[in-house]
Amino acid sequence: MAGRRRRLIAGNWKMNGLFGPGRAELGKLARKLLAAPPRGADIVICPPATLLRPFSDLLRELGAARRIALGGQDCHGAESGAHTGDLSAEMLRDAGARYVILGHSERRADHGESDASVRDKVVAAHRAGLTAILCVGETAAEREAGQALAVVRRQILGSLPESAEAANTAIAYEPVWAIGSGKTPTGPEIVEVHAALRATLAARWQEAEKVRILYGGSVKPGNAAALLGLAEVDGALVGGASLTAAEFWPIAGAGG
Ligand code: PEP
Repeated sequence: MAGRRRRLIAGNWKMNGLFGPGRAELGKLARKLLAAPPRGADIVICPPATLLRPFSDLLRELGAARRIALGGQDCHGAESGAHTGDLSAEMLRDAGARYVILGHSERRADHGESDASVRDKVVAAHRAGLTAILCVGETAAEREAGQALAVVRRQILGSLPESAEAANTAIAYEPVWAIGSGKTPTGPEIVEVHAALRATLAARWQEAEKVRILYGGSVKPGNAAALLGLAEVDGALVGGASLTAAEFWPIAGAGG
């Protein structure tokens, strides 16, 4: 590896957060990050889309817009049009997002997203100038069947477009069975998957050494340092523990 990749610690609020309490929590996190910024990590919060604009305004007010970036949790592949209920990557950007999580297993399961549709969304994110956080990961049954590496390889090859560069794309390895369960793979299991992902990327992409590969799935203050200390782990995608500044702050600190 040419040098240490800068860490990326992203919080996925999922369908959680209303204006008042959400604003209060983001304000607490911003103040902590302003007082002691993690030097080696980029910090991103991906709230529900309804909060992107107010959060963007709050971060600007607090002078924290360079400390915390905002992201969406999904986007449509098209720029605009007759797609009731959907949001385009351009709309996320317009509301203050710089990142967008794509292909999260909850979207793949709840909305039937395929690798091909995720790929279209990644293209859309790049078109709008957003950094895509592209999620891959196996189910418990796939891991038990010895298919974990094959599944993540298939997902990455099927969903990474030509427009991907290390500057506009990060990969998040999120075993489905580890999300929200309190379970995590062992260190060697995580390293094995991250190394396989990087090797798969290297076979078709010159930028492979520079791309950040995050781990996601039950990252908590108590295990963050160990997970972030693993070889090939360049950051974390955090769900439940990103909802409060008290829990997310130590994870962000572990990344710096
Ligand atoms: C996630 O859904 O992206 C996630 C990692 O969730 P949790 O941290 O709650 O397991």
